[in-house]
Amino acid sequence: MMSRKSFLPFHLPDVDGSELEYIEEVINSGWLTSGPMVRQFEQEFSDSVGAQYAVAVNSCTAGMHLALEAIGLKSNDEVITSPYTFAATGEVIRYFDAKPVFVDIDKTTFNIDTALIEPAISERTKAILPIHIAGLAVDMDPILNIAKQNKLMVVEDAAHAFPTTYKGKRVGSIGDLACFSFYATKTITTAEGGMVCTNNARWAERCRTMSLHGISKNAWNRYAADGSWQYDIIAPGFKYNMTDIAAAMGLAQLRKSDRMWHRRNQIANQYNSAFISIPEIEIPYFDNENQHAWHLYMVRLNLEMLTINRNQFVKELIDQNIGVSVHFIPLHLHPYYQKSYGYEADDFPVSHQQYKREISLPIYNRMSDEDVRYIVGVVKEIIDRHKR
Ligand SMILES: *Cc1c(COP(=O)(O)O)cnc(C)c1O
Repeated sequence: MMSRKSFLPFHLPDVDGSELEYIEEVINSGWLTSGPMVRQFEQEFSDSVGAQYAVAVNSCTAGMHLALEAIGLKSNDEVITSPYTFAATGEVIRYFDAKPVFVDIDKTTFNIDTALIEPAISERTKAILPIHIAGLAVDMDPILNIAKQNKLMVVEDAAHAFPTTYKGKRVGSIGDLACFSFYATKTITTAEGGMVCTNNARWAERCRTMSLHGISKNAWNRYAADGSWQYDIIAPGFKYNMTDIAAAMGLAQLRKSDRMWHRRNQIANQYNSAFISIPEIEIPYFDNENQHAWHLYMVRLNLEMLTINRNQFVKELIDQNIGVSVHFIPLHLHPYYQKSYGYEADDFPVSHQQYKREISLPIYNRMSDEDVRYIVGVVKEIIDRHKR
């Protein structure tokens, strides 16, 4: 049996000297919260995804809240999304007392099944909220068409999708608004943070205003030498702005994000070639036309070929010092959604079935080739011991 002495974490951020250098610059400047570093990060991030505007916030959840506020979501409105996602996607709709209308996912991609969207549209539908799961682009063209025909907005949960491309365009420049996450485990991190991207000046301005108390001039202008002490509160906003310390980290991460992506892509290729010939495992879907961000490497077990279930498989991996995870427990299986909307597990059968067979393996640039070989070896060995 293979073994290693130290635990291989599911994720480790790549944070080193360049983050420290930029953070030191902020500390020495005496300006800690939203200021020049945030502006620089917004500028470089929007350039990198090809969006006209980017508003830095303190989480993707906050960003999605602001995006839905900007498009005017109201109570009793409906937003079409899929249940195969993290808590944040559903909760931001509930912040407005609006209704998340779930439709199932595509069996191959884990992304929303675009064929199910049109039948789910009602008089109250305001927006479609697709999630680019794992960093694999959602098929956006049919969604944009449906949105156009039905006068709906498209807000993307792009928490996993930096850097993802769809038909040559970066996610962040495709839908009406796209929200990225810089949480500690995401493809680039500010510890906690997020970014709203849009090509619409009015929505960008609304997000910016509402991210800082609904004050019409932001604090940076207010305290700059040429700024003024006056401000207007135009709406009861939120406290969602990003700090300059976080932005310093984000800028350092952004500037090395290509190298980080290349390494993840290499690891994905190493996994793919090792697992492709093993019938007990299904490798994640990808295509060579669109760039996969490889935030997650989601494999599926062909359970009918194994004598153990997914949970037992996970336990064996952890027992052999490999940190793994499961993405995601579909929202409709959680008590809140079951109680509020009366959902049952098989109301979204594809989500339910795929969830039962999914395991996410570590994929981050600090992993060595030896780490990858160890994981591949352990996976193969578990399969050999539990083949039917
Ligand atoms: C991480 C995540 C979020 C939330 O991001 P935060 O920055 O932690 O708010 C939203 N959606 C998905 C799919 C995520 O994985």
